[in-house]
Amino acid sequence: MAKLTPLMNQYRRIKEEHKDKILFFRMGDFFEMFDKDAELAAPILNIALTYRNKKSGMKTKMCGVPHHSIALPISKLLAEGLHVAICDQIEPARATKSLVKRAVTRVLSPGMVYDLETLDQLKANYMGAFDKNYVSFLDISTGSAFYYKIFDSPDFFKLLDQFQPSELVVTSTQKEKCSKSPLFQFVAFSVFNKSLPKTLLPFQKIEKYRSYPESAQRLLYYVFCRQGEDSLKLVNSFEKRSLNKEMYYSRQLYSHLEVFKNYEGSYKDTLFSVINRTKTACGARFLKRRLQSPLIDQNKIEKRLDKIDFWISKAQLLEPVRRVLSQMGDGERKLGKIVQPTCNARDLLTLALWLDCGLKIEELIKDDKNRLLPEELKTIQTVRDKIKHIISPSCPSLLKEGGIVNKGVNPQLDEWISLTKSSQSHLLEMEQREQKKLKIPSLKIRYNSVFGYYVEIRKIYSSKVPSHYKRKQTLVNAERYTTEELSALEEKILSARSKMIEMEHQIFQDLRSEILEKLSILMKFCHCWSEVDVYTSLAFLAVEKKYVRPHFANHFKLKASRHPVLEQKTFHEFIPNTIDMPASQTLILTGPNMAGKSTLMRQAALTVLLAQSACFVPADQAELPLFHKMFTRIGASDLLSQGLSTFMVEMKETAEILEKADEKSFIILDEIGRGTATFDGMSLAQSILEFLTIQKKPLLFSATHYEELTKLADHHPSVRNACMAIREEDGNIHFVYLLKEGPASKSYGIQVARLAGLPHSVVERADQLLFQYESSKGDKVKTKDTREKKNLLKANKKVLIDSLIKELSGYSLMTRTPIDAMNQIKKWQEILYSQGYKKSNKVLKPKPHNFSDQKAFPDILN
Ligand code: ADP
Ligand code: MG
Repeated sequence: MAKLTPLMNQYRRIKEEHKDKILFFRMGDFFEMFDKDAELAAPILNIALTYRNKKSGMKTKMCGVPHHSIALPISKLLAEGLHVAICDQIEPARATKSLVKRAVTRVLSPGMVYDLETLDQLKANYMGAFDKNYVSFLDISTGSAFYYKIFDSPDFFKLLDQFQPSELVVTSTQKEKCSKSPLFQFVAFSVFNKSLPKTLLPFQKIEKYRSYPESAQRLLYYVFCRQGEDSLKLVNSFEKRSLNKEMYYSRQLYSHLEVFKNYEGSYKDTLFSVINRTKTACGARFLKRRLQSPLIDQNKIEKRLDKIDFWISKAQLLEPVRRVLSQMGDGERKLGKIVQPTCNARDLLTLALWLDCGLKIEELIKDDKNRLLPEELKTIQTVRDKIKHIISPSCPSLLKEGGIVNKGVNPQLDEWISLTKSSQSHLLEMEQREQKKLKIPSLKIRYNSVFGYYVEIRKIYSSKVPSHYKRKQTLVNAERYTTEELSALEEKILSARSKMIEMEHQIFQDLRSEILEKLSILMKFCHCWSEVDVYTSLAFLAVEKKYVRPHFANHFKLKASRHPVLEQKTFHEFIPNTIDMPASQTLILTGPNMAGKSTLMRQAALTVLLAQSACFVPADQAELPLFHKMFTRIGASDLLSQGLSTFMVEMKETAEILEKADEKSFIILDEIGRGTATFDGMSLAQSILEFLTIQKKPLLFSATHYEELTKLADHHPSVRNACMAIREEDGNIHFVYLLKEGPASKSYGIQVARLAGLPHSVVERADQLLFQYESSKGDKVKTKDTREKKNLLKANKKVLIDSLIKELSGYSLMTRTPIDAMNQIKKWQEILYSQGYKKSNKVLKPKPHNFSDQKAFPDILN
């Protein structure tokens, strides 16, 4: 093996200790990456891959980024789930050619941040961890920290879905288990096996930390080991949360209802995009968190709604307060910056501005009794005044350049500053004197970091240089000299300057530590002002878009309800609808395609979600039951990457609904059973509706194109039919978008096809065929004659049994797991039961479903 250069040797030695990270290796003005790191990083950062030592046979792949702009590259690598180690030069480069000392100064993992500016404003940046009984989350950029007790794997996955951690900190045993499941393929893992030691952390905290679940402790200690104690200063405490105190909802609810992301994955036309009128990013995140955890405690909801009412009653204050808020920026991340090692003087200045704005808000709403205490206000003023007193408004962003502290802060510092300044004028004076004395007008006195101060004289004047000039360095056209006088002056300037910088740095750090001590109270203010932002924005929305306060009752009544997103789209006017029904009823909604069934159901669901997140709702009047659970089953979400067909997904989601639904649930089912052939789809749909209506008694909205399902209302008093009204004129239909009692009279499929622009001949032919069908067997469906009805049911049954037999005989046992087979058999049985086949005598009541053996999720908790 050829001999490595000393530099590459040093690199290899350091890399050896950071094998699992991308190593940023400082070389002069660049951070370079080598070998595999370079190969991995270059395409992500979209930079060129080059080679080092091309000629020597020691060719190494390499890419690099300028040292002053590594924030974005690092954030891109972290976002890809990679870990990054930053290796810096830890001594100044010298004129001699010996190797500069280097060491890793920071290690970052996907849940950490190098520069807060690069984070998505709306996204929290959670690290997650779990143990047998708990899942914990921690966002060190904002200090938000909490854990949930979990009872089963679905709870765990639901929480992962909800909080989308950028990194899971796991033990090696956990990692091994997780890596076997495809569900984890997009999660970044960090293995961390150490547990919290007895000492190391500040005493008062360690006591508190010990009461946390193991997973929360692991997160804390992990961050401590990676980022030091300061980074934990934002974390006041872990909040204990419980899934039982929040509304339970199906995993897909937020994507089905397009709450934060639309079906294309962007923010546009989502519920959040239309209701979010906050002025600060932390206010927006605050609102997002509220919407993510709808409440079931009416008291809590009413208290929050009261605050919106308060702001509506103070409408004249909305504008001025919101104007101040819009100047505040992101308080949480401003405080987060103070904690970061990269914190600089400008960060303190922006903090002072932020506090200033906060004080203005407090001033504007001082007659609200529940605000900050006088001594708290005093703290804000003190911190703000101190920063303004100490930090120069024109300070540079680098700490090592000097010029960050105001005059008059420290007499000793003032002296160093004036000494540095006066020496500068000495230099100038000396330069002019020597130019005249030696008659060399181009003589210059300059400074560089390697050689210090020197006199530079062009070579043509070499003969004029006196003997007391000592040569320091030779250039092509000039020589550089020093003199005793210059050396003495240099000594004076450099020592004054370095003392000045050192002292400024000390003053800065002292101020920063003082602020860090007050961090928890500053966080409290931040929380208060974010709350003001949320409530003023909701009040503003209510006034602007005519939303009303929801009231909780035991019936579901929305007067002139609107879809919050569609009503804001301008292409045509939105028609409000009134929905009025007792709780625990089933509404079967029929009507042609495009009539507005899905829209109506979604607007009802969105209204419930808003109400229980303590927001006002888009209607003229709203009285709603307080739901404990909410489920949606909508549309085709193809999870092909997980190997599930659309119909399988539909049935999986339905299975969860059937298992968990109860009297306090709100369910919307859109076109259930559509994903399979007509007969089995219809049978499934009917059986599902019967089961829910009879056994679970939720409030259920179900849109369907199976007209047959409307007959359920004849047998079950709690089932009601409604449809979306249609106006028919000369064989053409017009959508009216109004909810009407009773089932739809027909399905209008052909008319809708005509509207959609299908060729005339095709539509005509379809019309003809329909006529034939209706006049032969189709008619029988509509007839009231029960004998014929029975015959038809018999025929349906026959078709069903035939298809079951076919499925059964074609079912390949050898390729299935026992659980798969059991699930399949159970499904067949359920189909049979829904048709009345049953051992039990009580034929009318379907057998309760037992889902305890459903292993949809891998069991990784034990
Ligand atoms: P369906 O589920 O019955 O097929 P949709 O609910 O998908 O129908 O509605 C189709 C379209 O009709 C929507 O995209 C929307 O543009 C329009 N629409 C629905 N409801 C209304 C309404 N109340 N007012 C105005 N337009 C509506
Ligand atoms: Mg629809």
